[in-house]
Amino acid sequence: MTQSAIRASAGGGSSGATLSPAQLAELRELLEQQRRFRLEQLEQLQTTEAPGELSNGDREITDSLVAGARAALRDVVDALQRMDDGRYGSCRRCGTALDPARLEVLPQVSLCVACQRADEDGDG
Ligand SMILES: [Zn+2]
Repeated sequence: MTQSAIRASAGGGSSGATLSPAQLAELRELLEQQRRFRLEQLEQLQTTEAPGELSNGDREITDSLVAGARAALRDVVDALQRMDDGRYGSCRRCGTALDPARLEVLPQVSLCVACQRADEDGDG
């Protein structure tokens, strides 16, 4: 296991993010765990799929599980990418700082509550 060095940027003038370096490190760890979990899940779903053994119904369930795991993995990878870019912790739509308490529960979240609600209401 490699422990990547934490880059501490000296000086002031950081914009947006209200998360402390310690909080970011903790959230990164959570995201890494989630990424590993999703990758394992996808691997299992793809290897348990025995051709000819599954009924159409089972296939559909497996397909939707794979799709769900892929979407979740994408969110997690995306969050890690934003962390690297220094954009993590603010809404990707309106730029509002995200609630750190919410990020601890859902570290991969990328929208503020208002934008997420609008998103869910948008197309059902
Ligand atoms: Zn927003």
